[in-house]
Amino acid sequence: MSTPRPYKRIATEEGWATPEMMQMYGKVLESRTLQDPGFYSLWGFFGQSQSPRARDLYERIQDTGARRLADMDACGIDMQLLLLTSPGVQIFDAPTATALAISTNDHLAATIRQHPTRFAGLAAVAPQAPQAAAKELERAVQQLGLKGVVINSHTQGEYLDDEKFWDIFAAAEALDVPVYLHPNTPSPQMVEPFLSRCLDAAIYGFAAETGLHVMRLIVSGVFDRFPRLKFVLGHLGEGLPYWLYRMDFMHAGIVRSNRSEGVRPLRKKPSDYLRENFYYTTSGMPWEPAIRFVQEQMGHDRVMYAMDYPYQYVADEVAAMDGMALSDEHKKMFFQTNAETIFKL
Ligand code: MN
Repeated sequence: MSTPRPYKRIATEEGWATPEMMQMYGKVLESRTLQDPGFYSLWGFFGQSQSPRARDLYERIQDTGARRLADMDACGIDMQLLLLTSPGVQIFDAPTATALAISTNDHLAATIRQHPTRFAGLAAVAPQAPQAAAKELERAVQQLGLKGVVINSHTQGEYLDDEKFWDIFAAAEALDVPVYLHPNTPSPQMVEPFLSRCLDAAIYGFAAETGLHVMRLIVSGVFDRFPRLKFVLGHLGEGLPYWLYRMDFMHAGIVRSNRSEGVRPLRKKPSDYLRENFYYTTSGMPWEPAIRFVQEQMGHDRVMYAMDYPYQYVADEVAAMDGMALSDEHKKMFFQTNAETIFKL
């Protein structure tokens, strides 16, 4: 008999979707009414392709019962934090997206009530209606017990550094829950050069898009306005931890040069916000040297395990993460207690 593990494994960026939303994605794919080439590239593959991998993902993403639990058991995941898959409700018009976020959050809360030890979740909101989004976040946290909010990067080419979205940040800060900024394909303004080489999604485009989004947020001064606002980034921070030195050096010069009204002096260095307002998950990046680097730079209390189910469902990765050269204390923080603290599980 094997000794019981001294930690629970909580996976913190696990995708799901409702059949209702998948049907609505199908209609968009048929009607071609959305002006977002990245969406057609991503969901044309998952939704309409006959490849076995695409069909399999399409089924797994919608399962919040027996099949998902069996997959979790098969690789030793005790709990999944569920995030509505990208781009969530953000492609629809504001009234449709607002209504869909509400029904999706109700569906998620019902799923969690059935398996409260196996699932927790983040709320979906429609940033295209910021006040309604703030209200729905409040309802989702206070009445449904959801643990924060997921936003899938750009909303129809718009970024959250625009002050019109900041009611959402005010609500998240007041509720003391994190905003998980999850990737989307690059916005319509920047996706073109990614498409012909199939670089628009997880291979690179997600990180380019989401990293840009984070940099826009930081230099806009959003974290001076909301100093207790907490963000979570997947994929070990979308490459940004590697840039800390250069972003500080260059940002100081841009501020000194007075080059643009879009760049105001900040209270701290850009890297300080990444160290103080951000948390990081390992979704899709189960690679020890990179994980160790982010732990060393950001702190062991800021890095959490995530698998990125069902897109990167690889049982061997869990064993590799178990085998990392970390102290027992740090390993328990990585797999379990950081997630419990940050998401109040
Ligand atoms: Mn993901």
